[in-house]
Amino acid sequence: MKVYIDGRYYDRSDARISVFDHGILYGDGVFEGIRIYNGKVFRLREHIVRLYQSAKAILLDIPLSMEEMENAVLETVKTNQKHNGYIRLVITRGEGALGIDPTQCKRATVIIIADDIQLYPGGYYEKGIEIVTASSRRLASDGLDPRVKSLNYLNNIMAKIEARQAGCLEAVMLNREGFVAECTGDNLFVVKDGKLLTPAPYYGALDGITMKTVIEIAESLGIETSETALTRYDLYNADECFMTGTGAEIIPVIRIDGRVIGDGRPGKTTASLLNAYKALVKG
Ligand code: PMP
Repeated sequence: MKVYIDGRYYDRSDARISVFDHGILYGDGVFEGIRIYNGKVFRLREHIVRLYQSAKAILLDIPLSMEEMENAVLETVKTNQKHNGYIRLVITRGEGALGIDPTQCKRATVIIIADDIQLYPGGYYEKGIEIVTASSRRLASDGLDPRVKSLNYLNNIMAKIEARQAGCLEAVMLNREGFVAECTGDNLFVVKDGKLLTPAPYYGALDGITMKTVIEIAESLGIETSETALTRYDLYNADECFMTGTGAEIIPVIRIDGRVIGDGRPGKTTASLLNAYKALVKG
């Protein structure tokens, strides 16, 4: 494996950055996770735009233009001869002094890793997964807007720990007002009376690229969609539920906080969206 760091390639064991990098010291930076399907980078432009928007929100200057960044990603994929896989694109604030002041960091560090990923064991896509509500709330947008895909995932990690302690693989996170935001690393959808519903990003969700793709697919299939407010009541009484993310793709949820969703099996709408999604990414 060859890892791209600031325009140069390093073997996996030699791919290192400074311990004074503020990405490590303070989680100061942004990142993207992107899929490669059949030799093509899926939704690359959308990921690059979100990366630059995240960086802008935290006043982080990326030392490459969007076009240069796209080319660096494509070159890293080619260098690693990845036909199918997963790209982790990381921009840290760069090397600086001890102390959080980002003006000490002269140049952001750009890291691109092209690797493989499997987020959930295969069987869960057929039988669905059980999730719980975490007591850790999603951050408020007047703190750090959850639309910033930052290197600081501790808030989500706390919720993930709660999921694991409850014997589940994932957890639902609510915002401060108690509305459903998203899961720890995925967006959440429900199907109710034939309509596809997901929390609008301003309820505390990442503006997911898979989420948007699923909404596009649903609309092309004639399914009504809405980005709206959802509470746990809406989740418990949904006909179907599933999560979406670049790594997870579309994964059915069949139990939430001990309530069986629908008939306890992945639903028909979820299955048709998953099939259409698979066809789209392969194409
Ligand atoms: N929410 C969070 C917190 C995430 O980290 C991710 C990405 N893993 C998502 C949602 C899904 O976003 P996307 O579809 O763009 O990968």
